[in-house]
Amino acid sequence: MTKPVIRKKYLLAPGPVPVPESSRLIAAQSIIHHRTPQFESILKECTDGLKKTFNTTQDVFIMAASGSGAMEAAMANIMSRGEKMLAIVGGKFGERWAKMGEAFGLDVQVMTLEWGSAPDPDDVKKILDADKNIKAVFTQLFETSTTTLFDIKAIAAITRTRDVMLVVDAVSALLATTFEMDAWGVDVAVCGSQKAFMLPPGLAYISLSERAWDRVEKSDLPKFYFNLKAYKKSAAKNSTPYTPAVMLVQQLKETLRIIFERGVEANIQDCVHQMNAVHAAAKALGLKLLSKNPGPPATGILLPDSIDGAKIPKIMRDEYGVTVAGGQEHLKGKIIRIAHMGHVEFTDLVVAITTLEVVLRKLGYDKFELGAGVAALTKELYVV
Ligand SMILES: *Cc1c(COP(=O)(O)O)cnc(C)c1O
Repeated sequence: MTKPVIRKKYLLAPGPVPVPESSRLIAAQSIIHHRTPQFESILKECTDGLKKTFNTTQDVFIMAASGSGAMEAAMANIMSRGEKMLAIVGGKFGERWAKMGEAFGLDVQVMTLEWGSAPDPDDVKKILDADKNIKAVFTQLFETSTTTLFDIKAIAAITRTRDVMLVVDAVSALLATTFEMDAWGVDVAVCGSQKAFMLPPGLAYISLSERAWDRVEKSDLPKFYFNLKAYKKSAAKNSTPYTPAVMLVQQLKETLRIIFERGVEANIQDCVHQMNAVHAAAKALGLKLLSKNPGPPATGILLPDSIDGAKIPKIMRDEYGVTVAGGQEHLKGKIIRIAHMGHVEFTDLVVAITTLEVVLRKLGYDKFELGAGVAALTKELYVV
């Protein structure tokens, strides 16, 4: 038998995720000029919508950058030369905070977690109690590399009562799990377009609390493109300091329409429902989860030791057209990560789990009845 042709592609990596058709079509329209009342009104609608998704009354700025650009903006604008910071490192993205701090010459203290664990808020409190020089805590809401959800509400309850900033990378988490910037007392939150916002990569969002703005006034780290004072000045005129990613902003307007039509809370519940279904599927295949505290954006599944795990995402992609993510660093070959956020929907998950079963079988793992994973998934998804 010759190999079947793979024409259909399914994207279930934890970013980028698929983009809805109505949003893709916007990218094909004629470009409009950004210094016009037409664009200014679109930008205003988007920033108003973003405020609702961040649950803040503060400005939310839209920048032409990937999520890491907003991470860099956060650090460059609230920190000053030589200041001390705490990076909570439980995976790749926590590491990014630590590396960034070093690049800026900050005094970086690292709180190291086992990959797959979430920080215990009491441990954060102990570190802050022991060292009053720490000016800011940098962490994630969802550590995508280990698919682990962090309890930001509890950590914010500690930082908000002292002179310590809490900077939260919510790039993969916003719209997939609950986040209340103002009510929790988060000082800086950053996000990006290619995760639960179901847009192509290229936009970064950032918002700062009132007390974070006080620190911006004192900050002396070098910055130009990411100087948030320029963004704030422009935002007052519904504009941006530099040329915005005009088409992506228009696509964001469409995304927000789709999300508000469903409702933010319902959107989050969909992700939770899909997460539960993927957990059930893994269990039915005799596989365990990597994370001790998994979350709604994506699931990391531990692969059997008996097979070469690095082959699974490769075969799924190249022979079946299904893209999931593998593990990073020491988790390479040990896990696969399946997204259930943004425009990843029930039927996509059926395809992903079916394909996973077939590839596990091909590689010789047979501790499950063919169809068991998809049966468990379907039961969770469709049977009420
Ligand atoms: C995707 C992601 C980012 C942003 O990475 P970019 O490649 O710069 O867009 C940051 N933090 C987390 C937790 C992410 O999942």
